Amino acid sequence: MAVEQTLSIIKPDATRRNLTGAISARLEEAGLRIVGQKRIRLSREQAEAFYDVHKERPFYDSLCDFMTSGPVVVQVLEAENAVALNREVMGATNPADAAPRTIRADFAESLEANSVHGSDSPDNAAIEVAFFFSDGEIVG
Ligand code: GDP
Repeated sequence: MAVEQTLSIIKPDATRRNLTGAISARLEEAGLRIVGQKRIRLSREQAEAFYDVHKERPFYDSLCDFMTSGPVVVQVLEAENAVALNREVMGATNPADAAPRTIRADFAESLEANSVHGSDSPDNAAIEVAFFFSDGEIVG
């Protein structure tokens, strides 16, 4: 299996509750290495562009409001099979459906304020990593 990178975002509901360390620990305990990281406040333009794939969905405006409501921590995670591994550690989108001991089961507030983002495919991971990070900001 190939070593992959994936993009993680610790969302505003989690930074507000001081959960950056607790969530990062879950990622590291699962074998994901944090090889790039920064705490930023997304602009409206960044949030809209990042979630462009959802722009026809009824929750798009609300999601962009939420994602710009406070700081986020964007991370590049590296491991064998990192994309699927991170999705497993995150749990299902809706915390009500998330498996026990996943990040979303343990920390999410709601379907929208669900504490973390993770790329859903290797192709999207490459696009999403490049959205936030330049090569020199990722140190393996
Ligand atoms: P993910 O890949 O598991 O993050 O899920 P999606 O790509 O389907 O959705 C992106 C994000 O939009 C989710 O993580 C939630 O924050 C939010 N979201 C998804 N579905 C809904 C919904 O039905 N209502 C609201 N308010 N937010 C949603």
